[in-house]
Amino acid sequence: MSTIGFIGLGHMGGPMAANLVKAGHTVVGFDLAPAALEQAVKDGASVADSAVDAVRDADVVITMLPSGKHVLGLYDDLLPVAKPGTLFIDCSTIDVADAREAHERAEAAGHRSVDAPVSGGVVGATAGTLAFMVGGSEEDFQAASPLLDVMGRKVVHCGDAGVGQAAKICNNMILGVSMIAISEAFVLGEKLGLSNQALFDVASNASGQCWALTSNCPVPGPVPTSPANNDYQPGFAVALMDKDLGLAANALRTNGVDAELGLKAAELYSQYHAAGAGGQDFSAIINDIRDRSTEGQQ
Ligand code: NAD
Repeated sequence: MSTIGFIGLGHMGGPMAANLVKAGHTVVGFDLAPAALEQAVKDGASVADSAVDAVRDADVVITMLPSGKHVLGLYDDLLPVAKPGTLFIDCSTIDVADAREAHERAEAAGHRSVDAPVSGGVVGATAGTLAFMVGGSEEDFQAASPLLDVMGRKVVHCGDAGVGQAAKICNNMILGVSMIAISEAFVLGEKLGLSNQALFDVASNASGQCWALTSNCPVPGPVPTSPANNDYQPGFAVALMDKDLGLAANALRTNGVDAELGLKAAELYSQYHAAGAGGQDFSAIINDIRDRSTEGQQ
């Protein structure tokens, strides 16, 4: 059993830490939010007065934070006080370049590290069914795997440092683009007199089939469990899709990739977020497309 310093006990980190406690690990948590600390204590974790105190005696440090600047800022404080050879696992979704910088800093300080972003949302974090995309050496991946197995159902070693984050943003770029494509098709179908159910029945059994259609269908009816049936309550919020597509757009530009659809999807989700839709499920983009559509020329 490991002693784990867990920093960032928010929507995702809180239940992930709780699952590690349930599995018998010693978890010493820290978060800036007092409510998150109270919940961690209820879940059976100990809490520390600072992030530095949470990691002093840890074998493993897990971070689940909003962005790369939070991760790098904390690493500056934590790396010098952690025991030599501590395994740092960053599960936050951050920029690939920041993830590589975090690895370099950890290695320079004599520690081991993996980037291990997740998909599966709060439901997956609570149920322990997250998917982890891991970047780092084979040895460090093997060391992290038993803990990732506690918090998740699928753990994939994607390659070297930063490549876990690369997998995360590539996957979510597919998701954002495909949700917009599916939504545009439904709005066009509506204009042409094609019912949503008929389009679903055809596309879900034809070459238009994809997760955005068959699991997270943006119109109410065809998939009863999709957020569209529940007033677009997330699910996966527009704010998070905007964040992830922003990271993808940054990587596209930095690496000179001519990806017009990925960049356009980032722009559309950013605008929709700015218009106040951040708390809605990302499938609500169909309403934005409908609102922006005109009468046409007939
Ligand atoms: P959250 O805002 O609920 O949690 C982040 C926590 O970090 C907060 O409780 C905050 O107080 C804490 N924090 C920030 N700076 C800190 C510091 N310096 N020291 C200690 N604590 C600090 O966010 P979340 O939804 O849990 O997401 C966490 C990460 O997981 C993000 O990178 C997000 O993109 C990613 N993610 C989220 C989801 C989701 O569905 N929520 C899904 C996949 C990935």
